[in-house]
Amino acid sequence: MSANMQVDSSVRAFLGRRLGHFIDGAMVEGEGQPVAVYDPSTGEVLAKVPDATKGEVDRAVASARRALEGDWSRLRPADRERILIRLSELIEAHGEELAQLETLNQGKSIALSRMLEVGHSVEFCRYMAGWATKIEGTTIDVSIPIPPGTRYRAMTLREPVGVVGAIVPWNFPLIMAVWKITPALACGCTVVLKPAEETPLTALRLAELCMEAGVPPGVVNVITGNGASAGAALASHPGIDKVAFTGSTEVGRKIGHAAVDNMTRFSLELGGKSPVIMLDDVPTEMAVGGSAMAIFFNQGQVCTAGSRLYVHKKAFDQVVNGLAAAAGSMPIGPGLDPNNQVNPLVSARQRDRVCSYIEQGLSAGARAVTGGKASPRPGYFVEPTVLVDVDHSMSVVREEIFGPVVVAMPFDDLDEVARRANDSEYGLGASIWSNDLGKVMTLVPKIKAGTVWVNTHNMIDPAMPFGGFKQSGYGREMGRAAIDLYTETKSVCIAY
Ligand code: NAD
Repeated sequence: MSANMQVDSSVRAFLGRRLGHFIDGAMVEGEGQPVAVYDPSTGEVLAKVPDATKGEVDRAVASARRALEGDWSRLRPADRERILIRLSELIEAHGEELAQLETLNQGKSIALSRMLEVGHSVEFCRYMAGWATKIEGTTIDVSIPIPPGTRYRAMTLREPVGVVGAIVPWNFPLIMAVWKITPALACGCTVVLKPAEETPLTALRLAELCMEAGVPPGVVNVITGNGASAGAALASHPGIDKVAFTGSTEVGRKIGHAAVDNMTRFSLELGGKSPVIMLDDVPTEMAVGGSAMAIFFNQGQVCTAGSRLYVHKKAFDQVVNGLAAAAGSMPIGPGLDPNNQVNPLVSARQRDRVCSYIEQGLSAGARAVTGGKASPRPGYFVEPTVLVDVDHSMSVVREEIFGPVVVAMPFDDLDEVARRANDSEYGLGASIWSNDLGKVMTLVPKIKAGTVWVNTHNMIDPAMPFGGFKQSGYGREMGRAAIDLYTETKSVCIAY
């Protein structure tokens, strides 16, 4: 554990426990191989969790099925709402414990863990609680002509889709778990969640808080372990009615295939290579601050990270030099010290993957204005890196790096920058920076992305639909769109 940092006794107590899966309302020991969970700021082992066996996945799915058909289905919407509000209060009350656990396990700044992992989770949970009592169908005046003289009235009911298998990544572990569990519960579904093998801790703690909030046993289950074993067994399980996946496009494709084989419903939130477009009227300070926030937030381990920066050629040198100076001046160190702005990446594997991309870029002719390598200190740190002299044939421009690496390119006119922004297999997010409304509104419809921000980047709200165009996903989370994901529509046709 990171030396010299004050960690709450509740966090130490949790880490001292024997951790397992959370099935049918209790933590149970797993029979599979132990998977080590690391502190990325030191590389030390924090905890161990089991790799779920097929039998354990079966048990978790069976528990979720029993719960779906039991008392949970008889609760009133207002009861589900009250339980979710109570859950939001418990996340808030245990906020410091959850934030410290997340920072120790994921590596991010404690400030981000408090504000986002916990703060956003509380708000998201409260927002979804409100939906439980607002799920509606429609009444339809139909014109069926037979038998002559018969009259009909039709309506639609929105019913819970059923047992949800949720599989999430390691970049925002608590938020990702809350994004999946709370809309599912609002709609009356039950859940088996598999957190990423790197970051299972807050999901397990969240499952315990669900019980404390009054969620009946079996409604929320968590199985731990690796993607190829536990994750694949869950995604292909015939007892699952819907798979909700967030992660890489490569794995998302496999999940989609497995789901289609069983005709399981599925939604996919996948990778990105989001462009940041700085037009020529943006003040330098705003351009530097905005582009730094877009890429270095959470060490670039953000699906919408602004990893391709297009700056109007008149301002290019100034903005790139400012960005490099900002990157080079950020204090580096463990996330438990809130003064450190550069924190470790989640794992040695991710650090090595990011460094290998940087090396590919440099050997293809890119130049690092700042950064360009891993930090020599212990843990999984990579220097914030700004690459120039790049073009769209290079892997650093085309592929998702998922680290603190931005490629900066000059542009001349709006059509050219729109074409280059869209020259990507991804289409998750994009930002346009300018106060020239005419130019902004010319660009917005041209950009192929699920979210286009103007004069901001990475801003996500529970009420705003979120998801990807192209290879960035399938379906939309958040807002009313989330309710569509976790319900089936049933038409009822009454003759009278
Ligand atoms: P990943 O795809 O490797 O893993 C995500 C999850 O899938 C993990 O729980 C993993 O164990 C599991 N998994 C891996 N192989 C599997 C398989 N064969 N079958 C079933 N499950 C399997 O992604 P990652 O490295 O954990 O996370 C980074 C990726 O997630 C990036 O591509 C990022 O863009 C994406 N992401 C997307 C969003 C979004 O909302 N669009 C949000 C966060 C992260």
